[in-house]
Amino acid sequence: MTLRTSPAAGDGSPAAGIDGTPQPGGGAPVVQLDTVSRTYAGGVTALDGVSLTVDRGELVAIVGPSGSGKSTLLNMIGTLDRPSAGSVRIDGHDVALLNDRELSALRAMSLGFVFQQFHLTAGVPAVDNVAEGLLYAGLPLAERRRAARTALERVGLRHRVDHRPHQLSGGERQRVAIARALVGRPRLVLADEPTGALDSRSGATVMRLLRELHAEGTTIVVITHDRDIAASLPRQIHVRDGRITSDSRPREAVSAP
Ligand code: ADP
Repeated sequence: MTLRTSPAAGDGSPAAGIDGTPQPGGGAPVVQLDTVSRTYAGGVTALDGVSLTVDRGELVAIVGPSGSGKSTLLNMIGTLDRPSAGSVRIDGHDVALLNDRELSALRAMSLGFVFQQFHLTAGVPAVDNVAEGLLYAGLPLAERRRAARTALERVGLRHRVDHRPHQLSGGERQRVAIARALVGRPRLVLADEPTGALDSRSGATVMRLLRELHAEGTTIVVITHDRDIAASLPRQIHVRDGRITSDSRPREAVSAP
């Protein structure tokens, strides 16, 4: 897939990366954080020299107590925030070298987000909430809706396409949010406590969908408070006081032959 600064560009110009450089090699890790720190105004150091590599196709749990820096870490990976120090490379792109427009393009083309509180648009049918995931793809509305219907089928909600969020259960809302995250076929899906607001059965359905997405090749990073969920995932990264205190797949092992 070719990333463009303007996803709508259909001018036949040669393929270029979102920062105008040739596309990074397909073998680059999806996430590379090098000694990343983030200090908020007021002086709170939420991340303190975090280095982390996530390879293509991994499914990773980030765990740690409240206030330990998990969301800040996920915001860094999702390019929703910039580090105070250190470097962030996503899908081979050094985030510091991208302007806001290029960052938006990277997010739209490579990343999918799932949040604890779903973040669906109220009063808007499920199909159009999901179609929002393709807003920057440069597709006509009819095509976006067709893709959105397919994504809703994929999460088992074919019978709910015209329902508004308030007409759906929590579990169904989260499945709509997952459909929105996957409709653009992102390389990386970031989920911040995706089961945190759900009963255990709906949570299990959401985790099953994320596992299926992973089995199809999508790289997934999940923040979770749920020890059972974390333990069931292939890699767990523990965060405390803004630092990684343990990683079940240490960095050395990732880069080993
Ligand atoms: P977690 O996701 O593990 O609960 P966060 O990343 O949300 O942790 O927060 C880490 C620390 O940074 C906490 O002390 C929190 O209060 C602080 N923090 C988070 N966001 C902000 C912000 N926008 N401004 C100031 N401090 C913040």
